[in-house]
Amino acid sequence: MSSDRMSKDLLPTPDFTFDPDVPGACIAGVRPYRIGSYRLDAEMESGKFVVHNYGHGGAGITLSWGCAEKVREIVKNYIAVSKDTEVAVLGAGVMGLTAATLLLDLGLKVTIYSDRKPEETTSYKAGGQWAVSVVKYEGKEEELKGILKTAYTTFKNSIGKNFGVYERPNYTATLSHNLEVVMQLVPGLIPERVPLPCLPFEGHTQSGYMYQTLLIEPPTFLARLEKDLKMRNVTCVHKRFMNKSDVFTSVTQAIIVNCTGLGAKKLWNDSQLLPIKGQLAMLPPQPKLQYLYGQNGYMFPRSDHVVIGGTFEEDVDDEIADKAKCQELVDYMASLFGKAPRRAMPDFHIHHPRHAAKVNPVLPEVV
Ligand SMILES: Cc1cc2nc3c(=O)[nH]c(=O)nc-3n(C[C@H](O)[C@H](O)[C@H](O)COP(=O)(O)OP(=O)(O)OC[C@H]3O[C@@H](n4cnc5c(N)ncnc54)[C@H](O)[C@@H]3O)c2cc1C
Repeated sequence: MSSDRMSKDLLPTPDFTFDPDVPGACIAGVRPYRIGSYRLDAEMESGKFVVHNYGHGGAGITLSWGCAEKVREIVKNYIAVSKDTEVAVLGAGVMGLTAATLLLDLGLKVTIYSDRKPEETTSYKAGGQWAVSVVKYEGKEEELKGILKTAYTTFKNSIGKNFGVYERPNYTATLSHNLEVVMQLVPGLIPERVPLPCLPFEGHTQSGYMYQTLLIEPPTFLARLEKDLKMRNVTCVHKRFMNKSDVFTSVTQAIIVNCTGLGAKKLWNDSQLLPIKGQLAMLPPQPKLQYLYGQNGYMFPRSDHVVIGGTFEEDVDDEIADKAKCQELVDYMASLFGKAPRRAMPDFHIHHPRHAAKVNPVLPEVV
């Protein structure tokens, strides 16, 4: 590497100092992956109109506004006939909060029921890249196109308006399946990838790609949605539903929007839902890092933390962080920048034998 390239072409190197014992430094979340595909449909049950909106795997933040728009359309068509004026949204994660926001536009009185506050949900833990990661959509390509268009456009329009959304380049060592999918389904929605003869980082000599995408910071985004909903008189009820009949007896509204994520596995007896656990190392923020990075694991520098993640443990649904695994993520990432000894590429994908054949094709190559 020439000193010329080092001085003017390289982007800032992260500081990989990490103490896994610091509270909040290691976290784990569970992606609500659905084996067939995400669920976005409606049914009549026990005299209620139920719209399901769950199972978005590792792409719930990404797809949220687009799915919420579909929910609004479904409910709009229904109330045109039923004349109902109230709706219950189950779940206060990103799917519940975005759906509630758009349902208000129909003039409905919205009540959110949830056993967790937004800051306790899986959504709050998400890394935040706008990318179609670990979600199935076979047979729903047309629907997904619309969802992607609405979601991307809505997020993009919210940049600079205190929603925690930023445009960022993502540098990857190999093609990013999660963004290639977007370019294939909706050409022109996001900028074309730029091939690079050499990734612009210290310690890197290999070629790669630059994708221009969005970074959505979940803590800021969810807090903003929650604040706006409260200002618009949405009521939030703390409630844990034990099963489906508990929902039907407890909820008075005739329209129910089910955004319970992985909770739908038990609540709606949905055996298609498969938890996929992910560990995240949360380093202190480093504002000089204005890029995302992916190479068998990812690094998303945000304003609250530099988030390093990319583990996938299928059929594991506990939210207990593994400090050793988080340290391994950081050490591996540091090694790519020449800041830790070179190491063999760790296998961060732990397949469950029962499901591996079904899940493998959607697991990302990069991020
Ligand atoms: C490590 C990790 C990294 C991720 N990174 C990204 C990323 O970079 N980009 C991206 O787009 N996505 C990412 N995701 C995926 C994203 O977090 C999920 O797809 C998304 O959070 C799903 O949102 P949700 O609202 O459906 O579920 P949740 O956020 O889990 O919300 C479900 C809600 O339902 C409620 N609920 C459930 N069961 C019950 C019950 N029985 N009674 C009452 N309430 C109930 C819960 O309390 C909660 O409020 C990541 C996920 C993980 C784990």
